[in-house]
Amino acid sequence: MNKKTIHDVDVTGKRVLVRVDFNVPMEDGQITDDTRIRAVLPTIGYLTGQGAVVILCAHMGRPKGKRVPEESLKPAGDRLGQLIDAPVSFVDDCIGEPVAQTVAAASPGDIILLENTRFHPGEESKDEAEMLAFAEQLAAPADMYVNDAFGASHRKHASTYGVTKYLSPCVAGLLVEEEVTKLQRVVDAEREGFVAVLGGAKVKDKIGVVEALLPRVEHLLIGGAMAWAFFRAQGMEIGESLCSDESIEGAGKLLNSMAEYLDRMVLPVDVHMKKLATGETRYAPAGGLKPGWDALDIGPETREKYADTVRKAKTVFWNGPMGYFEEPPFDEGTLAVAEAMGECTGYNVVGGGDSVAAITQMGLAEQMDHVSTGGGASLEFIENGGSLPAVEALDGKG
Ligand code: ADP
Ligand code: MG
Repeated sequence: MNKKTIHDVDVTGKRVLVRVDFNVPMEDGQITDDTRIRAVLPTIGYLTGQGAVVILCAHMGRPKGKRVPEESLKPAGDRLGQLIDAPVSFVDDCIGEPVAQTVAAASPGDIILLENTRFHPGEESKDEAEMLAFAEQLAAPADMYVNDAFGASHRKHASTYGVTKYLSPCVAGLLVEEEVTKLQRVVDAEREGFVAVLGGAKVKDKIGVVEALLPRVEHLLIGGAMAWAFFRAQGMEIGESLCSDESIEGAGKLLNSMAEYLDRMVLPVDVHMKKLATGETRYAPAGGLKPGWDALDIGPETREKYADTVRKAKTVFWNGPMGYFEEPPFDEGTLAVAEAMGECTGYNVVGGGDSVAAITQMGLAEQMDHVSTGGGASLEFIENGGSLPAVEALDGKG
């Protein structure tokens, strides 16, 4: 990586503002998956070991500039304390007097967690002056800045980007270093043997990645609800399958603009569908979808074809499940691709929220070379050819 990391600067005795990604899934006030908290333990451990005062800041959910008690970071702080078996001082705000007092009273090696940065409108403000004014307040109690929030690094927000204008040095944490290094290998992959698998439901957010990847891959396999947008854009019937007008429009534009690369794009040849009125399930060829039916997964022939392509690949990048994997048997397509990735001896990376949940649920995460903690961030990194605003803003090496 061409950016400085915490290993390149002296952190001893410094008050270090560390942006982390603690945007963990919660149900009834309980954290259901603490992967993102575990992912920053190496950075926190290094900083405390060097005698820094660690001031953690992060966002949770979408409170849109207001205090929303359900989106407090307090449970994340409690979990962090359990994981490291050390006290974490939680401050009920992320700026102002309470923060200043806690930091002033801290000793080397202490850990402080600040409340959700998104409780303040300045965090995400499109008005740059407002965003920067808030960033200045956030930076005030600290001597330097560390970005270890890979999953938020595609955002030009006060805590990920604005604070770099007010603190120096600004360096990467160990998670950001690992993510950038491992995803860069995908960006740099040779076209021959490079296979991308894209699926999921957020089609509109992913059209840009399809466009960016097509010139760089040998094969781009499309599954999940994303496939139905391409079906519809070609005038095919998709019955009641999940698909928005916006995604059809996006898919249609791409089919025109990327015509010269379309032989690399592979769409499902069959589907696994459910009749909404009766709950009956059936496989059908791609052209056999009828009104009243909802295509919830790729079919067996597609499964085999995709798995075969993935197994032989030199590099695989996967984002987005192949179907409605939360409801078996519609997890079969996703499972087939996940297993094939496990068997593939090439370099394989999974990025994305639900895709990662799927492979974790299937017990296959350990088989991958890299499982990104960032969904949108990993996609944007690939799309931009290896750059993210909150990483670019850090101090360069040399
Ligand atoms: P990721 O988080 O991996 O980027 P997305 O958020 O784009 O993926 O999409 C994941 C969601 O898409 C999952 O909840 C999955 O069940 C759903 N999904 C995928 N394919 C289908 C389909 N054919 N019909 C309904 N839902 C689908
Ligand atoms: Mg998702």
